[in-house]
Amino acid sequence: MQSDESSARTACRAASGTPARYCRPYFEYIMICKCDALCKTLRNATMAAISLGLLLVLPGCGGESRPPHIFVISIDTLRADALVPYGETSVETPTASALAADGILFTRAVTPMGITIPVHATMLTGLMPRHHGVRANVHRLAEDVPAIVEKLDAIGYNSASILSLGAMNFIAGLDRGFDFASDRAEDGREFKRDDAETLDMALDWIGEQDGDTPLFMLLHFYDVHSPHLPTDYTPPMPDGYDGPLVDGISVETLYNESQDLLAGRPDELAALRALFVGEAAEADRRAGRFIEALRDQGLLENSVVIYLADHGQGLGENDYFGHGPTLEQTVLQVPIIIRDFRRPGEARQVTETVGLIDVAPTVLGLAGLDADSLPGRNLLALGETETPSVYISEVEQRSSQTEFRPEHFDDEALAAFFDNYKYVESDGQQRLYRIDETWGQDIQPIELDELHESLRIWLADLMQDYREGNTSSERAELDDEAIEQLRSLGYIQ
Ligand SMILES: [Zn+2]
Repeated sequence: MQSDESSARTACRAASGTPARYCRPYFEYIMICKCDALCKTLRNATMAAISLGLLLVLPGCGGESRPPHIFVISIDTLRADALVPYGETSVETPTASALAADGILFTRAVTPMGITIPVHATMLTGLMPRHHGVRANVHRLAEDVPAIVEKLDAIGYNSASILSLGAMNFIAGLDRGFDFASDRAEDGREFKRDDAETLDMALDWIGEQDGDTPLFMLLHFYDVHSPHLPTDYTPPMPDGYDGPLVDGISVETLYNESQDLLAGRPDELAALRALFVGEAAEADRRAGRFIEALRDQGLLENSVVIYLADHGQGLGENDYFGHGPTLEQTVLQVPIIIRDFRRPGEARQVTETVGLIDVAPTVLGLAGLDADSLPGRNLLALGETETPSVYISEVEQRSSQTEFRPEHFDDEALAAFFDNYKYVESDGQQRLYRIDETWGQDIQPIELDELHESLRIWLADLMQDYREGNTSSERAELDDEAIEQLRSLGYIQ
C-alpha cells in the first residue's frame, strides 16, 4: 500500500504545475487509472474544475493593496437545503439569496464532523479534527496548534470572536489570538445566549471600528440548533396539524423520543421541517442585519463575507434526527456562500466538492498570507487544482460525556467524498454511495462491480492513511456546572 501511495504522490507532483501540497495524503491524489470508464469520469471532473478555476481566478487579478475585512458568519446546524439558493421554497432567506446572487455558491460543501466545536476549530486552524486534536465538544485546542487568527494579528488585523455558544471560546480555547472574544465580557461563564444578543454585541463591536484597520470576525448564531421553536417566519404546518410539534420540540424530545413520535409520520416530519426552516429564515435575516450594519458603517465595500454552517441536521431522513456521531448526508452537507464586496456582483456556482477545511486557507489567502502548510484549498483560487479532491468526514471521539448515543458511536468511522461518490466505513461495514446530480439527500448504495471496487479500494487506502496520522488532544477540565449546562444543550446526557 505504501508503494501505491508513493506512486500516487509522484504522479501528482509530476503533473504540470501541480504544487506539491496538493499531493499530500488524505486530500488530493492523482489516481492511477486502470479503468477507462473511471478515467473518463475523472477527466471530465478535472476539466470542469479547470474551467471553473479560470473563471474564479480572473477577478483576483486586481492587486488590491489594502487587505479586506473578512467576516465569517457561521449559522450553527443550518442545513444547506433550508436556504433558497439550495432549493428551499417554503420560506425566504433573503440574505443567502442576495449573497448568492452576487457571489459564489458552493453546491457541494461538506463538514469534517457533525459537531460544533471541532468544526469551528477546523475553520480556525485549517486542520482536520484528528489533527488539531479537538475531536469532541469537551476537548481543548492544544497551545502548540497554530491558529490562523494569530497570523492575521501579526499583519495588523483587529479580530473578534462573537459567539452564541460561549463554550467554544472558554472551554475549547478557540479564542486564542482574537483581540476580542465575547465570553470575556461575561466573565467566561456563559454557555449560550440568544442570537439577538449576539448580534447586538457584534454590531457594537463594528460600531467601534475606524474602518482603516482590517477586521476579521467569527460571528456565530445558534438559534437554528435544537430546540426547534416557531418563529415569525415559520411556514404553515400541514393542514389541520394538531400534533406534538405545534409549539416546537425540545432538545430532549428530539434526541430521545423522535423515533416514537416522528419517524415515518409524514405530517410530523413536515411540521418538524417547518419549524426548522422558520428558524433558518430568522437566522438568515440576522445575518442580513449584520451585513447592513457593515454597509452603514462604510465597511462593506472592502469586505468579504463567508456565510456558512458548521454542520446540518437530520430531520427524519433515514429515521435520523439531530446531529452528532453520524455520517448522515443531512448532517455532513453544509452551505458555503462567499461574497467579495470589493468586486462587481456576479453569480457563480461551484459544483466541485469543497469543505469547511478550506475556510482557513481561504481567509489567509484573502489577507495575502501563505497557506501552503495547510491541507485545505483557497476557495477563491480553485483553478490551481487539476483533479477532483477527496474530502474526509470523521465522527466525534467517544468520551465519558458522549457515550449516551452508543448505537451511533463508532469513532473510527469515516466518510470520504469524491465527486458524486461517498464512501463510508463504519460498524465494520464498507459502503459506496452515489450522490444524485443535485447533491441532495438522495444517495444510493452502489453494487460493487470491478470499476467501483477499484474506487472503493483507493478511498479505503486514503482512509487508512488518515487514521494513522498523528493526533494531539488536551481534555478540558469540566466542573459540575459546565457538565450540567452542556447537558441542557443536548450535547451530553
Ligand atoms: Zn453546531
